[in-house]
Amino acid sequence: MVYNYKDLKITWLGHDSFKVEYKGKYVYFDPYKIKPQKEKADYILISHNHFDHLSPEDINKVLSKGTVLIAPTECKDELEKFKENKKYYVKPGDELSFDLIKVKAVNAYNVNKFRAPGVVFHPKEDNKVGYVVTFGETSIYHAGDTDHIPEMKNLKPTIALLPVSGTYVMTKEEAIEAAKDIKPKIVIPMHYGTIVGSEADAEYLKGKLPKEIELVILKPE
Ligand SMILES: [Zn+2]
Repeated sequence: MVYNYKDLKITWLGHDSFKVEYKGKYVYFDPYKIKPQKEKADYILISHNHFDHLSPEDINKVLSKGTVLIAPTECKDELEKFKENKKYYVKPGDELSFDLIKVKAVNAYNVNKFRAPGVVFHPKEDNKVGYVVTFGETSIYHAGDTDHIPEMKNLKPTIALLPVSGTYVMTKEEAIEAAKDIKPKIVIPMHYGTIVGSEADAEYLKGKLPKEIELVILKPE
């Protein structure tokens, strides 16, 4: 199921994996356990080094010689294996400009999801990222693995891809509060159905977002 928004085609490939087509270019976010794809990636954006976001096996499914890889510095050891590809290592706040798209890396971290007492799954100091990618008039925010954090207020994307599963990321209730801060036109829930969370977490947002925000629930392809 492809979601069309103006000149963008957005496909959810499960978990945090998305394919976005814009003017014949293909951007993939966090490919993980994806089905074979017809289209090779022009850009692959990786949010952080956990196995369900940085998956060399899945990168290989959509990689060509011309694919540009963009990831936080913590992914360097894994990504240097893709010797022929251009790579950019980013931290929150970094911006990259390409022919048709702009990429801004933004903060992604936990404030209250702990794997041990006092230790969160995604510490701020790791400099893991989310992305705001601008395609002409439209921008897409891929939040990565994050809680509801204050930096979200300044992003002002058209479309926000937000985790809803809880455990490692925002809960569905926290995603609603995050959406109120972000104020996108559209929210597309993610981070459910594969490792943790179910479609019920996405459905929970129905009727609970401010009325100016449209909720779009996709089926994984
Ligand atoms: Zn993670």
